Amino acid sequence: MHNESPIKRRQSTRIYVGNVPIGDGAPIAVQSMTNTRTTDVDATVAQIKALEKVGADIVRVSVPTMDAAEAFKLIKQQVNVPLVADIHFDYRIALQVAEYGVDCLRINPGNIGREDRIRAVVDCARDKNIPIRIGVNGGSLEKDIQQKYGEPTPAALVESAMRHVDILDRLNFDQFKVSVKASDVFLAVESYRQLARQIAQPLHLGITEAGGARAGAVKSAVGLGMLLAEGIGDTLRISLAADPVEEIKVGFDILKSLRIRSRGINFIACPTCSRQEFDVIGTVNELEQRLEDITLPMDVSVIGCVVNGPGEAEVSHLGIAGGNRKSAFYEDGIRQKERFDNDNVIDQLEAKIRAKASILDVNNRINVTEK
Ligand code: SF4
Repeated sequence: MHNESPIKRRQSTRIYVGNVPIGDGAPIAVQSMTNTRTTDVDATVAQIKALEKVGADIVRVSVPTMDAAEAFKLIKQQVNVPLVADIHFDYRIALQVAEYGVDCLRINPGNIGREDRIRAVVDCARDKNIPIRIGVNGGSLEKDIQQKYGEPTPAALVESAMRHVDILDRLNFDQFKVSVKASDVFLAVESYRQLARQIAQPLHLGITEAGGARAGAVKSAVGLGMLLAEGIGDTLRISLAADPVEEIKVGFDILKSLRIRSRGINFIACPTCSRQEFDVIGTVNELEQRLEDITLPMDVSVIGCVVNGPGEAEVSHLGIAGGNRKSAFYEDGIRQKERFDNDNVIDQLEAKIRAKASILDVNNRINVTEK
């Protein structure tokens, strides 16, 4: 019901991570990373499936050793979501996971070492249509760049990234995306802005080591929000010291708040005050839990009284405005004759949301068929 986002996205080239398009106007892909031991295949597969269930488009898995590469082979056979292998220095691991069907290599060509080894990895990626992510991090810049700039600065991060970009350019390989992450919001934001002016490839956004679940989500939302509002960013990962499932949820919430990409229900809820006629906070918390399976975008307003209730309900797919003992119910902005008992709002609203999701789903399919 709310309008499309006014954000004009930066024009970038397109790569594919498995079947997921990145860049050139593709939906911004939300990714996370497993934090199990990769050699614990069962635990890693379970975590990847949990991430997929909450909407992860792509999952990154750390592959630090050849044993982990062998585990990666088994993991890859058991999941559907595209997998990125995180490799730091050892080019043999990159070649091995390429054999095992990896969908993207996160490796910095400048860290591989000898020229013949760099060529081996890039040629393999080209032959197998595997894109590469160059990932620069403010906390691990090359020594000479650290000495040149004295501290991590946007120019330092971009210079580091461009070293790796130049290597791929020289080898005529353009299927890559780049990240320039930092834990400081201003440093990360300015680095991405500068990089966005220098290359055409897609950008992978992130505020690295952002913190715990709450503070990290806020910091990520502020940093990524600034960039996304400027049209910068083609895929993102929220880095939280928390369950990776939270990273996916926060990532979608950020995109949802900017109306860039919606998944599931967008609850519009008032903060409550003494005027509320039913338990707004309890209702929203419970419905968020119960309705995680709904992936269709839908605006639902849950407002405690008539001060703001009707106004929000009129621009939502479904809405409830608190009233004395019974609350007004709105569908597609129109007040319905039916009213909800204030002591049973949760069940009644859940039923309405599920029914609405079915209708929207059918309409979507009809529209897709007609196109
Ligand atoms: S909408 Fe009503 S209940 Fe909710 S915060 Fe405002 S005045 Fe209070």
